[in-house]
Amino acid sequence: MAERHRVVILGGGFGGLAAARRLKRAPVSVTLVDRCNYHLFQPLLYQVATGTLSPANIAAPLRGILKKQKNTEVLLAEAIHVDAAKRRVILSDGWLDYDTLIVATGATHQYFGHDEWEQFAPGLKTIEDATDIRRRILLAFETAEREPDPAKIRAWMTFVIVGGGPTGAELAGALGEIANDTLRHDFRRIDPTKAEIILVEGMDHVLHTYPAKLSAAARRMLERLGVTIRTGTMVTNVTADSVTIRDGTRTETIPTRTVLWAAGVLGSPLGRTLAQEAGAQLDRAGRVIVEPDLTIPGHPEIFVIGDLANFGHQTGKPLPGVAQPAIQEGRYAAKAIIQRLRGEKIEPFHYFDKGNLATLGRAAAVADLNWLRLSGLPAWLIWLFVHLLYIVEFKNRLLILLQWAYLYVTYDRSARLITGKSPLPLDL
Ligand SMILES: Cc1cc2nc3c(=O)[nH]c(=O)nc-3n(C[C@H](O)[C@H](O)[C@H](O)COP(=O)(O)OP(=O)(O)OC[C@H]3O[C@@H](n4cnc5c(N)ncnc54)[C@H](O)[C@@H]3O)c2cc1C
Repeated sequence: MAERHRVVILGGGFGGLAAARRLKRAPVSVTLVDRCNYHLFQPLLYQVATGTLSPANIAAPLRGILKKQKNTEVLLAEAIHVDAAKRRVILSDGWLDYDTLIVATGATHQYFGHDEWEQFAPGLKTIEDATDIRRRILLAFETAEREPDPAKIRAWMTFVIVGGGPTGAELAGALGEIANDTLRHDFRRIDPTKAEIILVEGMDHVLHTYPAKLSAAARRMLERLGVTIRTGTMVTNVTADSVTIRDGTRTETIPTRTVLWAAGVLGSPLGRTLAQEAGAQLDRAGRVIVEPDLTIPGHPEIFVIGDLANFGHQTGKPLPGVAQPAIQEGRYAAKAIIQRLRGEKIEPFHYFDKGNLATLGRAAAVADLNWLRLSGLPAWLIWLFVHLLYIVEFKNRLLILLQWAYLYVTYDRSARLITGKSPLPLDL
């Protein structure tokens, strides 16, 4: 195995894992590096944040997934630098040499130059983020129940979500259901159905990448759940107890204790390393602009895939930061490595767009399958099926299906736990 071509994959998300699996029978030695010991199914993170699912339902240990793949080792490590000249990845606690490198460390949200907002308006990217958001949402209702001052109760029961893309819309829909259904009868002093859920979006529509008819349908479904939608509206400030928004020339400060951030994209810091060390070009979001074969100019041995890559060769625009491009790019990079070893010609990467799905609450979703556009129950059933299909472990698939069925029948979200350090005394 020592003389084999060494492929190092950074990141065991959708892209990195797809690449590793595609190399299963290849005559190479694969090292998959991730700073978490699990693969996370991010599309269902919002269900952890809103108490429907537990963290373990949407994560699967990387070691377990790849245990039968004999040519592959999994390392728990953080990559902090790439020395492209030496073909070496520097870890926070060591290094790894490679012949081919696949960088799939993803992206996160960004605060557009206002990183100080992050402490008040957390984003949703990791399991820790999801349990922190869950804690904030549940604590807001608990504190409102104990708070005597009506103005403060109002602020605790106002939830502002910034960003009307799929994550923001899904969070808003789930919050609407929590307030109107799940918690409806749980409190004695406050009425959870009076909670105000405000979705703020800078563009003119929510889900603006969807066809106009579907984004209009999404708006109606969210409004039915009691969500107030403020489109064409920018956030200009966030503090511990308010958010300030601007709509044209009108500025308004909304008292709120819970702001959730679902806007902006920022490529992983490894993109900047590749720019410094290997001359890669970055776009404004810090994503690496890749060649038609997903490598970086002058370095055919470095592939960049998934959310960290900006592949604009097909439509002139970067591919969307969703799971399908990452998976297809991961498979392509693996195949390209195999073909190169065989001395075969490599075709440029081509993305096959299977469409987009977003769910907006109970039996409500939008589906743009390119050849078919649906909203409501049929779209929700497709959403359900597709998400179950892509969950990595069979056990999790089964558990999630059971929990969804239970939620559907009872409206109950059983993972409504406030975890972490004690929240007491409450901030009254
Ligand atoms: C809340 C949320 C909801 C979403 N909903 C949908 C959806 O409904 N449908 C859809 O298609 N897509 C959705 N997406 C987007 C989708 O999850 C991403 O497009 C996809 O995960 C990108 O895959 P990736 O492999 O590029 O990166 P990721 O899946 O983010 O994987 C990156 C991996 O790299 C690891 N890593 C990062 N930095 C380092 C480092 N320095 N060293 C070692 N390891 C590192 C991370 O731990 C992670 O495992 C959603 C994303 C989020 C956050």
